[in-house]
Amino acid sequence: MSFQRVAIIGLGLIGGSVGLAVRDDLPGVTTSGYDIDPKVRARARQRGLAQVIHDDPGEAVRGADLVILCVPVGAMRDAAAAIAADLSPDCVVSDVGSSKRTITDTLTDALPGFEIIPAHPVAGTENSGPDAGFSTLFHQRWCIVTPPAGANKTKVAALVDFWESLGAMVECMDADHHDRVLAVTSHIPHLIAYTIVGTASDLEQVTRSEVIKYSAGGFRDFTRIASSDPTMWRDVFLNNKDAVLEMLDTFLTDLALMREAIKAGDGEMMFDTFSRTRAIRRSIVALGQDDARADFGRGDHD
Ligand code: NAP
Repeated sequence: MSFQRVAIIGLGLIGGSVGLAVRDDLPGVTTSGYDIDPKVRARARQRGLAQVIHDDPGEAVRGADLVILCVPVGAMRDAAAAIAADLSPDCVVSDVGSSKRTITDTLTDALPGFEIIPAHPVAGTENSGPDAGFSTLFHQRWCIVTPPAGANKTKVAALVDFWESLGAMVECMDADHHDRVLAVTSHIPHLIAYTIVGTASDLEQVTRSEVIKYSAGGFRDFTRIASSDPTMWRDVFLNNKDAVLEMLDTFLTDLALMREAIKAGDGEMMFDTFSRTRAIRRSIVALGQDDARADFGRGDHD
């Protein structure tokens, strides 16, 4: 089984990238799209983010065998309700949201009887909106598929194939496990970046212009993450609360240990920690999940 008609709901960074990637990597597959914002729909038509952009969500999903919700996590329920009456009975409903447990529960509740197979492409940039997407976003990036217990295996395999066709590497796992893994690899790093950039901008001893002028000292790299979409990230923290709080407690314990080491002049502890973290960075580059160049190889997309 393979999907022939894909409907994309939400045409920002991720939805737009899905549409462009299907155009390039699955040329026989047709795409339809819808976004709640008329300006986004107009821009999506200009960019060809899907073959047909509809003004009505129901029309966009009619006849589709795969529907992918690419809206902020907090908008999943409304987006699902708007398409419920027009979904084909055999279609797969998936999504790309950054947290998985609450979305699985929300979609199962909003679309009873439909095959819900959530997914999360671990790929993105700090940009959002209909101009942000590009067709190669998923190349060599992981996509985590979180099939609920009892999901149809043929349909799960078709969804895995779909993401692999867009260049992604796919792993299946339980939604709760996804949320804990992503809490530490994505959600806490964003929280730290938002906090440190906020702290620096509030400082009185160091002027804001000095913070910006000398940003290459490390601050600059945090500002890239801290410029990520506020709606998206608010929704992630509201929807992955338990896992984030658990990982945050672990992080705060480690931060307190580092504070003690600095206070006590324990250079050995610091050197050991920094050596371990340097090795992690090198293995990420070695696995092709980042680039050793100073701009992280992001070039135009940064
Ligand atoms: P985005 O660029 O802001 O695009 C989301 C689009 O969905 C916006 O145009 C938004 O319109 C629209 N929308 C909101 N509610 C809607 C509804 N009920 N029906 C139809 N369209 C609706 O966001 P994104 O970065 O693509 O993120 C989309 C999803 O992907 C999120 O769930 C996020 O967690 C996930 N994700 C993001 C990244 C990343 O790096 N950005 C990576 C992986 C996964 P308005 O702006 O008018 O609300």
